[in-house]
Amino acid sequence: MQVQFYGVRGSIPISGENITKYGGNSSCIRIQSKDGTPLILDCGTGARPAGVDVLQQGQKNVEVLFTHFHMDHLFGFPFFAPLYIPGNTVRVNVPAYSAVDAQNKLSRYLNGLYHPVRIRDLAAEVQFHGVRVGQNLHRDPYTIKTVSLNHPGGSCGYRVEADGFSVAYLTDTAPLSKPSEGLSGDKEPLRAERRLLSIMNDADLVIMDTMFSYDEYLQKITWGHAYPEYAVKLANMAGVKKLMLFHHSPTADDDEMDRLADYWASQDGERFTKVRVAREGQVIDLSE
Ligand SMILES: [Zn+2]
Ligand SMILES: [Zn+2]
Repeated sequence: MQVQFYGVRGSIPISGENITKYGGNSSCIRIQSKDGTPLILDCGTGARPAGVDVLQQGQKNVEVLFTHFHMDHLFGFPFFAPLYIPGNTVRVNVPAYSAVDAQNKLSRYLNGLYHPVRIRDLAAEVQFHGVRVGQNLHRDPYTIKTVSLNHPGGSCGYRVEADGFSVAYLTDTAPLSKPSEGLSGDKEPLRAERRLLSIMNDADLVIMDTMFSYDEYLQKITWGHAYPEYAVKLANMAGVKKLMLFHHSPTADDDEMDRLADYWASQDGERFTKVRVAREGQVIDLSE
């Protein structure tokens, strides 16, 4: 199973000479099992290059999973090229009560006002599925588990299993406990934290929102983003092999990201989980 990062930035896509290494596209990841359909996690601006790759590889069926609908996870959706190819099938899985509710949520963006293309104009067969957070999904060959995260308006975390490997995608989320409680306070995990730990359990790879430093988090506790030390604590407790720090702040340039990466790489051996920083364009092959 391969995991490819097409967009690793949070809140807003950015450009500039000082971010060419880690990239400026917003959240979009592709999971690819050996023989299965591409699974696209979120459609930030990284969905544009992801769609180009899917087309070039001749894939006709695609599964898209949304965590939530903040624009940094949605903006690239109408730029996802497979949507415009007759004969393609794109199934869009959205945290929603029903398929109709799922379609209505996307239709608010693709309505001719915020974007010139309307849902009904898409040439591909677009199927909608309402994901009930907490329930499992089966998207052959993928088994997908879901978990509720701590974010304004909600966000759905996913664990994807295929080919004997497992990946958890946990964005956007603040810690699931307040600073003096649960794992944040070095106490027993709260119930929501236990649910998150079980989604992460023994995963080969976890990708988690760590947009803030701890100090920034304390200033912006209600904004719905976590910090590396919290993600590392969870990952290590859950026996995760590799943790990718993700949803990078638009204010963080390559030098700052390099410092973060160097610090966590220097901690190898201190704990079970290896901690790395996600980079746009990076491909992780879990079978290696
Ligand atoms: Zn976000
Ligand atoms: Zn968000």
